[in-house]
Amino acid sequence: MADKKCKLLVIGGGPGGYVCAIRAAQLGVDTVLVEAGRAGGTCLNVGCIPSKAIIHAADVFHHACGFADNNALGIAAAQPSIDLQQTMQWKDGIVSRLNQGVEGLLKRAGVTLVSGTAAFLDGKTVRVEGTAGTSTISAENIVIATGSEPVEIPALAFGDKVMSSTEALSLNTVPSSLAIVGGGYIGLEIGTAYAKLGSEVFVVETAGQILPQYDKRLVDPVAKRLAHLGVEVVTEARATGLTAAGLEYETKDGAKGQVPADKVLVTVGRRPRTDDCQLSELALTMNGAFVQIDNRCQTSMRGVYAIGDVTGDPMLAHRAMAQGEMVAEIVSGLNRSWDKRCIPAVCFTDPEIVCAGLLPSEALAEDYEFDVAQFPFAASGRAMTVEREDGFVRVVAQKSDGVLLGVQAVGAGVSELAASFSLALEMGARVDDIAATIHAHPTLGEAFQEACMQALGHGLHI
Ligand code: FAD
Repeated sequence: MADKKCKLLVIGGGPGGYVCAIRAAQLGVDTVLVEAGRAGGTCLNVGCIPSKAIIHAADVFHHACGFADNNALGIAAAQPSIDLQQTMQWKDGIVSRLNQGVEGLLKRAGVTLVSGTAAFLDGKTVRVEGTAGTSTISAENIVIATGSEPVEIPALAFGDKVMSSTEALSLNTVPSSLAIVGGGYIGLEIGTAYAKLGSEVFVVETAGQILPQYDKRLVDPVAKRLAHLGVEVVTEARATGLTAAGLEYETKDGAKGQVPADKVLVTVGRRPRTDDCQLSELALTMNGAFVQIDNRCQTSMRGVYAIGDVTGDPMLAHRAMAQGEMVAEIVSGLNRSWDKRCIPAVCFTDPEIVCAGLLPSEALAEDYEFDVAQFPFAASGRAMTVEREDGFVRVVAQKSDGVLLGVQAVGAGVSELAASFSLALEMGARVDDIAATIHAHPTLGEAFQEACMQALGHGLHI
C-alpha cells in the first residue's frame, strides 16, 4: 500500500467514524478512513442492527405461537416452527445490505477507505497493516473512533459455551437453556428474544434489580413481562463459574445457587478498544480506561480527537454519530461545540423503555424543583387495540415554568416516541406546549400529551 497524507484521518468505521468521515468529505476535507473489519462497526455488524433483527424475528415467532393457542382475537393457526439458521441468514442479509450502503456513502462522499488496522506512531502518523500490505498515513488531524468490545469475566472465559453478545446474535440453533450474566439492556434484549424463541432463560444480576440505571417504576413492567415469559431473574448475585451442571452463582448473603446453562451469555459491560491502535504511544489523559475529551471531543493532544464508545458512557450509536458530525465540522473550520440537551436512550426490551433528559432521581440530584406526571397506557385506546396496555409515559417538568427536564416511557412500541421526546427537550418545550399540540388519534404519542395535561392539573382521559 502506498503511503498517504491527508487533512483528516479517522480510525474506525463504526457509526462515529463513518459519519465523521462522510460529513468531513462533504465539507471538502481531504479524508481517509481506516477500518480493520467491516464498515458500520459494532452497531451495524454485531450490535444495534442484528439484535433488533433477532428481536423482531422472535416477536413474530412468539406471536405466531400465540395463534396456535385459542386467542382472544379469534385467529387460529397451526403450531409454528423456527429454522434459526435461516433467521440468521435473513439477519446477515440486512447487515450486508447496510455494509454496502455505508461503503457506497463513503465512496460517493469522496472518502478514501483503507482496509487494515491502524497503530499510532505519533500524534500525526499511523502505520496501517492490511491484507494489501503495510503503509504509513500522516494527517493534520486524527479522530480515534475505535469503539468498544465486550468485557470478559475471568471465571467465565469466552469459548464454545460462554458467549458475548456477538456470538449470541449468530447462533444456528435455539439453546435449550440460556444463562445470562448481567441484567443490563444488551443481556435483557437478547435474553427476551431467546425466551420467545423457546429457550429457558435465567438472568444473574449483581445489583438489586435488572436495568439498575433506571427507577423501579420504569423497570417493573419489563420485570413482569420477563416473569410472564418464564425468565427467572436472580438479583444481588454474582456468577462464580461454570460446571457441567450449569452456571454457579453466589448471592450477597453468601448463598450459592446454580441455573441450567446450555449456553452462557456474558453481558457485564464493554471496554474501550485501545490496544490495536497502540493508544498508549500518545500518553493521552484518560478517564479510567476511556479517552478523556472536552466539549469539542478534543483529547489532551492537539489535533487528536476521540468520539463514540472509546470515550465512555453513554455508549450509544447516535451519540457517536452526533460527535462524529461535530468533529468533522470543527476540522473543516466551523465553530462547533457539544450543545445537546439530551441523548435519548432506548432499551428494546419487552416492553421497551425510552429515557430522554433527566429521570426524577437525576432532577433531584441536580437540585431542581420539579413535578412528575404520568399517563398509563391502560387508559390509551391505541394501546388496547394492539393488546398492550402495560406501561406509561412520564414527564419531569420544572416547577417554576413547566419546562420539560425529562421524559420517560415504558410500553410496547414506545421506541418510536423517542424522537418526539428528544425534540421537545431540545426545543426547550414546556408542558403547556406539548399539551397544546394536537396529537393524532389513536396513537401512543397521545400519552405524552396527556401526561403533560396531567402535569398542568387537567388530564382529560384519566
Ligand atoms: P464501533 O461501532 O465499535 O466501531 C469501531 C470500529 O473501529 C470497528 O469497526 C472496529 O473494527 C474499528 N477499529 C478498532 N480499532 C481499529 C484500528 N486500530 N484500526 C482500524 N479500525 C479499528 N447502541 C444504540 O444506540 N442502540 C442500540 O439499539 C444498540 N444496541 C446494541 C446492541 C448490542 C448487542 C451491542 C453490542 C451494542 C449496541 N449498541 C446500541 C451500542 C452501539 O453499537 C455502540 O454505541 C456504537 O457502535 C459505538 O460506535 P463507535 O463508532 O464508537 O464504535
